[in-house]
Amino acid sequence: MIDFHCHLDLYHSPRQVLAEVVRRQVYVLAVTTTPLAWEGTNRLIGDAPRVRIAAGLHPELVATRYMEVDRLCGLVPRTRYVGEIGLDGSSPHRHSLRKQQSVMQAVLKACERAGGRVISIHSRRAATLVLDELEAHPDCGVPVLHWFSGTNAELRRAIDRGCWFSVNPSMVASKTGRRLLVNIPPERVLTETDGPFVHHNGGPAMPWHVADVETALGHLWEIPATVVSERLRANFACLVRHAKQLPTVG
Ligand code: MN
Repeated sequence: MIDFHCHLDLYHSPRQVLAEVVRRQVYVLAVTTTPLAWEGTNRLIGDAPRVRIAAGLHPELVATRYMEVDRLCGLVPRTRYVGEIGLDGSSPHRHSLRKQQSVMQAVLKACERAGGRVISIHSRRAATLVLDELEAHPDCGVPVLHWFSGTNAELRRAIDRGCWFSVNPSMVASKTGRRLLVNIPPERVLTETDGPFVHHNGGPAMPWHVADVETALGHLWEIPATVVSERLRANFACLVRHAKQLPTVG
């Protein structure tokens, strides 16, 4: 099982969740929302197997914490994974879009300077603007659009740009999510939970709930669950192989 976008540090009991992740052998990309949280999450996770940590600055926090962008750019050379970053154009956050754009530009430039990164990206109500930034920074690495909810035309553009997509329980449960999913090449799909923000089975989505996303993908792709697992495992292996080749310092 693979949870490629999870806020492991933000659960009520992160240590318990981590222990269960290790016990169930889930592969997790622990995204972070601020550079400081990246440091704390590194301490939390230590050398737990199968868990990787991404350095980020969440677009919803940019209005008040944009000054932390320099600190994040300083971390980029040290980590192969960047996220959560991106743009949010929904009404509570639209007012900070300009600041969000300048933060995203600075981080993508840092990714380019570092030789490319695997980047987990938020694009709610801002898919076109996110794609504009990705096209303006062609050497930033491999963008993984998390919980993509754009139009079919935006999806087409994202696929052409080489984006990957991480898919969570909310996305497979919604009509719009499924409408997009049938048009995404299966070899660009990964599973995620976005826990604890996404809710599933009456509580925060847990990393192992990606099993339910796998089941839903099996129905959508009309293939058996075992083949879905193999597909996702191969996708993940491909991305990790790529990430391992990226240069890092420190
Ligand atoms: Mn998230």
